Parts: sequence; C-alpha cells; structure tokens
Amino acid sequence: MKKSDLPLPKNKFAPLLLKWNKENNTRQMPWKGEKDPYKIWLSEIILQQTRVEQGLSYYNNFIKTFPDVHKLAKAPDEKVFKLWEGLGYYTRCRNLLATARFISKERKGKFPSNYEDIKSLKGIGPYTAAAISSFAFNLPHAVVDGNVFRVLARVFGIAAATDTTEGKKLFTSLADDLLDKKQPGLYNQAIMDFGAVICKPAAPLCTTCVFKKNCVAFLTNKVYDLPVKEKKITIRKRWFYYLVLVYKNEIAIHQRTTKDIWQDLYQFPLIEANTDMTVKNILQQATKKNWLVKSDYEVVSVSPLFKQQLSHQLIAGQFIRIQLKKQAKDNNGWVWVTKNKIAKYAFPQYINQYLKEKLGQQSLF
Ligand code: SF4
Repeated sequence: MKKSDLPLPKNKFAPLLLKWNKENNTRQMPWKGEKDPYKIWLSEIILQQTRVEQGLSYYNNFIKTFPDVHKLAKAPDEKVFKLWEGLGYYTRCRNLLATARFISKERKGKFPSNYEDIKSLKGIGPYTAAAISSFAFNLPHAVVDGNVFRVLARVFGIAAATDTTEGKKLFTSLADDLLDKKQPGLYNQAIMDFGAVICKPAAPLCTTCVFKKNCVAFLTNKVYDLPVKEKKITIRKRWFYYLVLVYKNEIAIHQRTTKDIWQDLYQFPLIEANTDMTVKNILQQATKKNWLVKSDYEVVSVSPLFKQQLSHQLIAGQFIRIQLKKQAKDNNGWVWVTKNKIAKYAFPQYINQYLKEKLGQQSLF
C-alpha cells in the first residue's frame, strides 16, 4: 500500500461515488427518482428490515390499493394488516396506519417537509427521515443504514462498532461530512445502491470498484473484518402449540393483543412453552383452561414440527386439530370462522404455512 493512497480525502468520496452512479449504476426500483413523499415513505417503511426483492410486490400492492394517504388512513385495520401479511415486523404496519391517520386528519393530507417534523412521525427514525427529506425535498441529510455503515467502514478503515452509541455518532458525523449537499437525494440513493450491489456483505466487487485504490479495507486485506459489531444476537427459543378447534364447519381464532411478536394478527388458541411438550400435556393444559371438556372432543390430527426463524427468536411447535362435539363454554373472545371467512384475517407466516397446506388438501374444515 502506498502512503499517498490513504486516507481518501473526504472531498473525493462523493465525486467518485456519483461517477459510479452515473456510469455504472443499473439498479432499478419503482420508487427511484420519486418525489411524492407519501410513496417514498411507504417504500421506506416497507424496506425497513425487508429485502428489496421481497418488498417490491408489497409496495406495488399498497400503491394500487391506497394511491394516497387519505385512502390508507380510511382503510380498516384488518384490510391493511392483510395486505402486510408475510412482511413481518408488524409494528411497522401499526405505525404506518397511525401516521397515515395523523397526516390525513391533523395535516389535511400534507406530508411534513422538514427533517425534524418528519422524524417526529410514528415509525420514522433518523434513517427514514433522512431518506424522505432528501428524496422528496432535497434536504441535506445523510442516510446511515447497514449499507452505509459497511461502505464507510471499509473505505475509511473504521473499526468502531456500528451498534454502539459512539460508533453510531462517528459514522453519522462522517456520513454528514461526505454528503453532497447540492444533490443529497441522488447521493443518498447512490451510496445505498453502491452498498447493495458493489460493496456487498459477501463477495464485494473490489477488483472493479471505483474506490479500490483508496479503500483501506481492500488495501489492508480487511474487507471481511469490517464493519464491526459488538453485540452478539442471542436467539430465544419458544414453543407454540396451536389447537385447531373445529366445531361443525367453523374454526376458533382470536387476535394476539399483547405486546409481543405478531401483535394484532390472528391465531388459533395457543399453548406456549419454553420447551417441547407431549400432546397429552398440551391437552391437559387446554382442559385446565376450560377450552376442552373431557370426552367432548376428538384429536383428529397432529402436524409435523413447524418452525419459523425470526431475527431474535426461533418459533417451533405443532398444530393439533381437534373436532369438538360441543362448543367450548368459555370461549375467551374467540371468533368462529368458516372456510370462506378465514382468508379475510391476517395470520403470521408460521400459521399461514399450516393453513396453506391444509386448505390445499381440503382437510381443515
Ligand atoms: S474496494 Fe471492495 S471493500 Fe472497498 S469499497 Fe470497493 S467493494 Fe467495498
């Protein structure tokens, strides 16, 4: 490594990035170049914790169903949750609705046009506020997300952990210094695209990269050591045993209302445990809860093990399909739904896997 190569002067970063953007960036996305803050906001909320390829169809469906903020604000919760189904992280959907209703009612549909007011909206943090204010209003706020952390950590050889307060401060301050203040929207989109298609987490395209002569990570062989994270993610394992209670041609479902994963989505009556359980134990617990009355039911089938990996939790368990001879007395706020009505409710992916299989085999009702 020649001394003169490093470090890259800050004022050279944006021109090199924008040169790549102009000459080589072919990444297409329907919201690119969009100026309508409503559409930008929708795309950004959908893309939080979601890959672009997965988010695309959701974005298109949302725009088609709710072309403006008033239409989204007026929609019943269940319709919006149903459209969100499969995207996960349902807090985003709740915040989306709350913000749409706030903008529609309190601001007569007008999206705020300055960074602080945008950031004060529910579900919008510094990253999303910077994205909306730069894309829609050309305001000079730099986005700092996983892509930006990676690009800056590698190009400038920064070993500060991105998940610490000091690390975040350092990266945010550097990102602000590097931002092209005259074209912040173009710059922000370019750095995110660059992180997604060139400076990728695995197999980055270093040998053809515009920064290869100045990139500390590349020149010092530390590409895979950067960026650094301090905390290790611990995965909590939970066992979910669902009782699929069938009475005549109806099934019992209810809404998850507690502050937990899948809040507001629907599920079958649930027995949760910290470890795996036998069917006998599950039935005993259900009887204690008065969901089942001895001799008034029959276990029709027990599913194989189902699993779903979330970011910090692993959900595993089974579905026990039970034919009731009498409807349970204490019905705990359950809703009894027929085959035709079940599709209107939004379920977590874990349940949808089961439903899809059973409805496909016509063996649920
Ligand atoms: S040279 Fe490699 S590590 Fe450095 S910015 Fe380019 S793609 Fe990323």
